[in-house]
Amino acid sequence: MAKLSIQQLSKTYSNGVKALDNINLEIENGLFGLLGPNGAGKSTLMRTLACLQEADSGTATLDEINILQDPSSLRKVLGYLPQEFGVYPRITAQQLLDHIAILKGISQRKERKELIEYLLHKVNLYEKRHKSVKGFSGGMKQRVGIAQALIGNPRLIIVDEPTAGLDPGERNRFHNLLADVGQNVIVLLSTHIVADVSELCTEMAIMNHGSIVYKGSPITAMDKIRGMVWQKTIERSELEHYQNDYVIISEKMVAGRPVIHIWSENDPANGFTRVEPNLEDVFFSHIHPTGTTLNPVN
Ligand code: ADP
Ligand code: MG
Repeated sequence: MAKLSIQQLSKTYSNGVKALDNINLEIENGLFGLLGPNGAGKSTLMRTLACLQEADSGTATLDEINILQDPSSLRKVLGYLPQEFGVYPRITAQQLLDHIAILKGISQRKERKELIEYLLHKVNLYEKRHKSVKGFSGGMKQRVGIAQALIGNPRLIIVDEPTAGLDPGERNRFHNLLADVGQNVIVLLSTHIVADVSELCTEMAIMNHGSIVYKGSPITAMDKIRGMVWQKTIERSELEHYQNDYVIISEKMVAGRPVIHIWSENDPANGFTRVEPNLEDVFFSHIHPTGTTLNPVN
């Protein structure tokens, strides 16, 4: 069982933005979801763990490897899919993977060929292996991205917002691939999409303004707020009134009318019904759309 351990990790950019504010996390095998709105600090954390940028203070270890002190050891066991993996040369999927395998030090031609055929099958792109990656759909590009991250048998795989921009079918296929990959290694997945975490992850953390505001399992998170989430369908013109009178944790349109979820420890009456909390309620009970932290239920 591999273990990634992050202790007191902090980073302030030169413009004064505190992107990591004393991060502490213990992560074991399986899919770990790092959920947070844009600007939370997810990519900064992931680039730091991938040794692409330095932290100001703190430590991070993967089993016996001291990540921040020994980047070359870490790189040998790391697979990384950055948030912006968008620049593709005009070469085929097979050529691209072959090129990256060479960069990762797999020098035997035959070994490379077998590995790449295996990976192309795994990510379901074998039939397209002679097609230019530039012409691939978003989902196909992300699958090439996962294939390259898997080269070299990594123990830690970091994928930064891999489902952003995928259509529902592509996203579904990508979820299945991640679940398959995540069985034997640590997969650290960042996302701002709540459903990515509820569908895939047994453990998660919610990040906001550089801090971890929740860590635990999605199920425990929902248990903790059970009884405090209330729902009502209202008229669009009433929305402002409700915003003033209640702590709204989410609002969405259902058949053209707003359905609001509010946070209340007591029965708010007034036509609200208590609902079973979902992970979106968890997310918005920690992070209000305005960015403020509402209820620090840790
Ligand atoms: P996320 O991936 O969760 O959207 P980021 O790690 O990209 O968050 O950014 C966290 C915060 O740090 C944001 O406020 C962002 O504007 C800021 N930031 C990110 N990269 C830099 C940089 N190179 N220089 C200055 N500020 C940065
Ligand atoms: Mg990011």
